[in-house]
Amino acid sequence: MVALYNPTKASVEETLLNELSPDVPWALIERFTTLVRESGSDDEKEAAQYIVDQLKALGVPHEVYNPDLFLSVPVKSSLVVNGKTIRAKSPSFSISTGPEGVTGEVIYLPSTSSAALDLLDVAPVSDVDVAGKIVLLEGFGGPPPVRAFEQKGAIGQIYINPGVDIHWGICTTIWGAPDLDNFHRQPKTPVVSISNPDGQALIEQLKNGPVTVTLHTELKEGWMPCPVIVADIKGTEEPERFVLVHGHYDSWDVGIGDNAVGDATLLELARIFNLHKDKLARSVKIAWWPGHSTGRYAGSTWFADYFGLELARNCIAQVDIDSPGCRWATEYYEVSWMKETEEFCKQAIKDVTGLDSEGERPHQAGDYSFNNIGISGFFMLLSEMPRELRKEKGYYPVGGCGMNIAWHTENDQLEIADKDNLMRDLRVYVATLQRVLNNPLHPFDFRLLGAEFQETLTSYADAAGADANFQPAFDALSELQVALEALYSKSSQLINRPVTDSAVRAYNDAILELGRELIQINFTRQGAFRTEPAVKIPPLPDLAPAKQLAESSGHMRNVIRTHLLRGVNRVAWSFENATKIAQRAVAKIEG
Ligand SMILES: [Zn+2]
Repeated sequence: MVALYNPTKASVEETLLNELSPDVPWALIERFTTLVRESGSDDEKEAAQYIVDQLKALGVPHEVYNPDLFLSVPVKSSLVVNGKTIRAKSPSFSISTGPEGVTGEVIYLPSTSSAALDLLDVAPVSDVDVAGKIVLLEGFGGPPPVRAFEQKGAIGQIYINPGVDIHWGICTTIWGAPDLDNFHRQPKTPVVSISNPDGQALIEQLKNGPVTVTLHTELKEGWMPCPVIVADIKGTEEPERFVLVHGHYDSWDVGIGDNAVGDATLLELARIFNLHKDKLARSVKIAWWPGHSTGRYAGSTWFADYFGLELARNCIAQVDIDSPGCRWATEYYEVSWMKETEEFCKQAIKDVTGLDSEGERPHQAGDYSFNNIGISGFFMLLSEMPRELRKEKGYYPVGGCGMNIAWHTENDQLEIADKDNLMRDLRVYVATLQRVLNNPLHPFDFRLLGAEFQETLTSYADAAGADANFQPAFDALSELQVALEALYSKSSQLINRPVTDSAVRAYNDAILELGRELIQINFTRQGAFRTEPAVKIPPLPDLAPAKQLAESSGHMRNVIRTHLLRGVNRVAWSFENATKIAQRAVAKIEG
């Protein structure tokens, strides 16, 4: 493969890395141990003020916005069983029951797999009639099961968490503020989570006969003003083009591992990139979001909505910073990155930490609120505890804090952060960002995505068999792969030219436009500037129902075939558009 990264700015990278210091970030972390940063609260505003004060002191240009975000903040919940009150937490967007509560008979649906712990996975399939009942399940109460059991007529839901502590969470499938396409999906029934010991006791009682329980839930729901902070550091050669680096500063409780460490990282990045802005070719925007925990990424989604056109035109990449630098998190083996950024990320991590890394397709989670615009993204969570250590400690999978189970509980305190790990992760962010900001060519390789598409299409086509025709998509992909090879073959002649060279610009424009086409088709179905539901989204989601074709029959079989026919058209058309983008760029470069 042709190298896409020109290391001539290695001295700039060295300067930036040498500038890194724990002073500013660690002071933020210590300050945040005293702030319960639930969105809409005074503590959240105080945290915002702290960040703004630091930016002012450092002379970093920034804006503060105050959008009204639609939030659901848990106040208090409990579960009453045979007159005894059991400790419980409600996920955001459970309804409030009022003082009388919701009473009903419990029906226990044992989970058959660990899928119950996956927050975004499909609901456990069950033919049991749950209408009018309160379902009892293992898991975290993520959006898919909550929606599925509500639709089956359950009047309430209880989730048994895997450990002794109860984790906070959010159960709506709506991403950010609701619109006409999705407001009807907001949950209409109460949901609580309880500890594992309390759950096991309830399961025991059910063995002796029916049990009736009452759910009491209270949440504060509504549109609340919350500060969004965006630092804007201008590059010198191509200032209109920018990388968006971002993370949430609201948290459950004082949330140190999730996500004071991320906020500290963002502040240190703002400090050093501002200090050396004369050495940056392109601009970097650094954003701190509210409304992540109780608004399903409401802050980042607001930004994607309000600055959608600007992002579509000029955003090179988005980098989410959530839960870096946690205790015992010394490895990189489940790093989120889009396929086109994989080689680039691996190289940078290796260069500045000496460590190998493994990654995966980004989950439909975190503040990945920019997929519908089609922006290349890398990172979300970053370093993690070694697998053996997690096993040794008996830890179950969680969604942050370097895989420490203090995640989303009262235990996520100062001890969850680790200064050395934070400084090592900061090196990763500095190197990757510096390279995107300064490299003449955007170092993203869409040929890797083309190869992934080939695998994805093949797996769907094999599953569908003779009942669906994937050939138009395969044909269009072959053409696209040829066009991409032609485009990338130009990189060696461009790699040493200045950022402002017109052929370099044509190449980079094509990289952005390829993302707008191919990321949209690979991660979304609702189209540009809309939002996807917060559920697991498979690759090329238009074609994923191919996997259900074999076990379908009659009417549903024809429905799925129709869906796939339309899906193949969408995917093939997107590949054709991407082919034209690459071909036009080659023509301009040959000019
Ligand atoms: Zn987080």
